[in-house]
Amino acid sequence: MNIISRKEAKELGLKTYFTGKSCKHGHICEHRTDHGNCVKCGRMANSLWRKNNDSYNKERLKKWKKENKKHIAEYVRLYGTILHRRYRSTPTGQLRTVCRTV
Ligand SMILES: [Zn+2]
Repeated sequence: MNIISRKEAKELGLKTYFTGKSCKHGHICEHRTDHGNCVKCGRMANSLWRKNNDSYNKERLKKWKKENKKHIAEYVRLYGTILHRRYRSTPTGQLRTVCRTV
């Protein structure tokens, strides 16, 4: 990775930059140009938030499914058979098919 400052990354329009220095949590990785946080810290915060807001996310998904019934139906109609065929070719899918036929 090339060492580049946040300012240079901004000028180049890059989404991330790499300073070679560790963040306050000891990660030596890229930083986001928009808010300057380390990418790994961002991922950690994201997964922690998801864990802590599990019921909120379930509610949101339920609401989204309700509001996008047409979209989901269309998606299943277009990709359902392809996805099902692909799933059946995986070890889990094959096992399931065998279990269903026995
Ligand atoms: Zn970090």
